[in-house]
Amino acid sequence: MEQLSVQTSEKQNEYLISCANVNKWFGKLHVLKDVTLDVKKGEVLVILGPSGSGKSTFIRTINGLEEIQQGEITIDGINLSHDVKDIEKIRKETGMVFQQFNLFPHMTIMKNITLAPIWVRKKPKAEAEKLALELLKRVGIPEQADKYPGQLSGGQQQRVAIARALAMQPEIMLFDEPTSALDPEMIKEVLDVMKELAKSGMTMLCVTHEMGFAREVADRIVLFDEGEIVETGTPEELFDNPKNERTKLFLSQIL
Ligand code: ADP
Ligand code: MG
Repeated sequence: MEQLSVQTSEKQNEYLISCANVNKWFGKLHVLKDVTLDVKKGEVLVILGPSGSGKSTFIRTINGLEEIQQGEITIDGINLSHDVKDIEKIRKETGMVFQQFNLFPHMTIMKNITLAPIWVRKKPKAEAEKLALELLKRVGIPEQADKYPGQLSGGQQQRVAIARALAMQPEIMLFDEPTSALDPEMIKEVLDVMKELAKSGMTMLCVTHEMGFAREVADRIVLFDEGEIVETGTPEELFDNPKNERTKLFLSQIL
């Protein structure tokens, strides 16, 4: 009996993120249609799809920024759909990086990174600052701690945004087109940080148009179209041997 209960609980914990038949409407607009997707701890997913297909809305539902009307979302065993009170817990489990870096312009880089750990996580200031410096080293800009966001390049600001998200020690990192607002010469430095993060075992969902990154780093690619997942597969399966006509059409337009 004991054996059985252990197996059951392992099965329940097999997925860090579990979405079942998720439906969302904005008014009459049906933006997520029966989205079902499970993500294991340590998996790196790249989400592709045309503009307006629901990619941002989908990843925003995962950290509770968007409500859903039907279906189930479970993050690390916490059911988001029902336990509205637990949304704060989920927000602490997921770090999010946006196209616009959203740093606080009137605060130093150090303050930007330590603000939430000190006020939300109740970390002692010295400890939060120590972690912030380690993270700034990890993203390659330890010397920028005392500057203000406006003094940094776009690529550096986005790396600060990644460090800031990591400072909350999340289980999951969500990226929504993190390089789309960057000048071309700065894209690589941000993708390199994301690659390192992926290698370190972080569970990641990345909406991106960077196909090189997708091919090299993703364990799985998910293709959205008109609010539906039309195909998922390894990069090889999806890029070299797409099965769905809509995937073929999408790839023919971007590759
Ligand atoms: P993507 O990220 O794939 O470009 P989005 O998730 O941003 O797509 O948008 C999906 C659809 O939902 C689009 O038709 C968009 O116009 C619509 N939409 C997104 N956010 C809102 C909102 N807050 N209110 C109403 N419609 C929205
Ligand atoms: Mg989007």
